[in-house]
Amino acid sequence: MTTIAFIGLGNMGIGMASNLAKSRYDVRAFDLSAEAVANAIKAGCVAAADLADAVGTADAVISMLPAGKHVKAVYQGDDGVFALAKSGALLIDCSTIDVSEAREVIRAAKDAGFDMLDAPVSGGVGGAEAGTLTFMCGGSKDAFQRARPYLDAMGKNVFHAGEAGNGQVAKVCNNMLLGIHMIGTCEAFNLAEKLGLDAQTFFDISSTASGQNWSMTSYCPAPGPVPSAPSNRDYRAGFAAAMMLKDLRLAKAAAEQAEASTPLGQHAEEIYTQMEASGHADLDFSAVMKLLKGTLQ
Ligand code: NAD
Repeated sequence: MTTIAFIGLGNMGIGMASNLAKSRYDVRAFDLSAEAVANAIKAGCVAAADLADAVGTADAVISMLPAGKHVKAVYQGDDGVFALAKSGALLIDCSTIDVSEAREVIRAAKDAGFDMLDAPVSGGVGGAEAGTLTFMCGGSKDAFQRARPYLDAMGKNVFHAGEAGNGQVAKVCNNMLLGIHMIGTCEAFNLAEKLGLDAQTFFDISSTASGQNWSMTSYCPAPGPVPSAPSNRDYRAGFAAAMMLKDLRLAKAAAEQAEASTPLGQHAEEIYTQMEASGHADLDFSAVMKLLKGTLQ
């Protein structure tokens, strides 16, 4: 049986590891949080005592960690995955991290003799649980082909975006665009309401006209038109504003490095920083609507 070490069983990782276990992989789970490991056991994984125990016999190592510093801590150093994994193991980091950090870690993997992919995801906790994530992968074609069976067990759409780091490029560019069109959609619905046009009527018109976009039709920030949207449950996350802010900061850093002009991306980052300062970054990212209305308190 193929053995997979899964590192980081938080909100996203637990659903992903559970789907691997359901696909009859032998999943060895490691997390610094005892609660996360207990959840993984319930989901059909085997608890690893430490990182060495998790990765020592694994054919593939998959990680889902908060940020670049955690990814570096897990992979690099004398007690990291590069030192502990068996020869030929495939390494897949699904965390959302800085493009340059992803490229640096994958370069270090290559130097240590491992194939590694960056494979950040879109689809949120619901997609992780349902096994319908979108994976955006950077790395060699060979590594991508080897990773496919594992990624297919956790996702619905699996893309090879090109060389190392390009998965992160796709992820931050997509989420920068998402942040921008969510804010624009909030502004349009708020203005329409202030001018006397109700949300449902504006939705019916704009969703079939040129203002149509995903934030409107799948995730409408005004309560009513899209029943499943967080706006109908007082903006309880969903995709927390804090996560959007993280991704916008990564986009800003990447834009600075690439000397690319992203004025709207920067402005979106400032607006989500305001949400954070208001103490409501735990709300869904569509709660920018409340910020515009002045009802965040
Ligand atoms: P999370 O904080 O819920 O989970 C991260 C887990 O990693 C925690 O359980 C933590 O204990 C563990 N961890 C941290 N350092 C570790 C270490 N050194 N060794 C072992 N375990 C360690 O985060 P999440 O919401 O699951 O997000 C994970 C990644 O996925 C992030 O990079 C995030 O940006 C990305 N992402 C999240 C979402 C979402 O909706 N939550 C959507 C898309 C992408």
